[in-house]
Amino acid sequence: MTGSDDNLGRDGASRPGPTDATVLVTGGAGFVGSHLCEALVADNEVRVLDDLSSGCPADVPPEATIVEGDVRDPATVREATAGVDVVFHEAALVSVAESVEKPLESDAVTSDGTLHVLDAARREDARVVLASSAAVYGHPESVPVTEDEPKAPTSPYGVAKLSADQYALRFNDLYGLETVSLRYFNIYGPRQNPEYGAVVSVFLDQATAGDPITVEGDGSQTRDFVHVDDVVRANLLAAETDHVGEAFNVGTGESVTIRELAETVRRATDSDSDVVHTDPRPGDIDHSLADVSKARERLGFEPTVSLEDGLTALHRERAAATPDPGDQATTD
Ligand code: NAD
Repeated sequence: MTGSDDNLGRDGASRPGPTDATVLVTGGAGFVGSHLCEALVADNEVRVLDDLSSGCPADVPPEATIVEGDVRDPATVREATAGVDVVFHEAALVSVAESVEKPLESDAVTSDGTLHVLDAARREDARVVLASSAAVYGHPESVPVTEDEPKAPTSPYGVAKLSADQYALRFNDLYGLETVSLRYFNIYGPRQNPEYGAVVSVFLDQATAGDPITVEGDGSQTRDFVHVDDVVRANLLAAETDHVGEAFNVGTGESVTIRELAETVRRATDSDSDVVHTDPRPGDIDHSLADVSKARERLGFEPTVSLEDGLTALHRERAAATPDPGDQATTD
């Protein structure tokens, strides 16, 4: 059930995490979930529970089994969880803006959905690794943020994530269920859903098209951008840690201003797009930065992908996936 040197990841390097296990990835057709499935399928039986509301079945490796269903439905969740050893719970209503428009739905999917997953996992005695979020901290009082920072989420999304995060930890205290909450910071990488307006995708699209790169406000806001491969690794480590019933920040510990991000994107794409400034977004968080020392010490987590390398690789992958207009020319 634990990682070994025979356990090779996509890059051929050894990876931690389960082997010969049955794992469930909720939201496995989405951005993080599909990368997790890729890391797991070679050595495990992988099941995906996804309602395909935003996820794409083509992104799920063919060796995995897709159960199309909703985490809001307890019977579906129970069925999908039958016989599993580990659940990686990624499904959620992910868009902050959508959560503001539909707070009841946000709560039902992200908080209640997590409760159904935890309840089903308890019946199976399966470990649960939960996708929590830096949104639980709201506007942090200071950065870098440790796990003990006051929790003051500013959106229904953040409130629902905090509820999910706390339910996961309380299921450990109350029922002895092995749970780990991973509080992801700003993730980027291939197959990120562009509809959520993730700043990395927006800037890459603008730079690639030669359009101006639009920085909201003066660009001095800071974020902690973590590559999806590092997030997958944190999940695999969480699946086998002895430190259950705990929450961990998952970021890089590196602070990047949005202005620096725009410049890095320009370099990575070899673009001469101008960087322009628009009105600041109301309520935007000024500074977000993970203190990852707890994950380092207790999980053995080490972020490995620099922003420059991650963005350059992402630009190449996106360019390779986009058909060359010349290839579509006809001779008619
Ligand atoms: P994503 O939207 O790409 O993936 C979410 C998946 O969940 C999708 O495949 C979607 O179809 C599925 N889903 C949504 N509602 C569902 C429901 N009711 N039942 C079953 N499946 C459902 O999002 P992502 O970026 O991969 O995020 C994964 C997790 O990480 C989420 O829990 C998100 O809140 C959390 N997170 C992401 C980031 C980030 O930067 N991407 C940051 C912090 C936390």
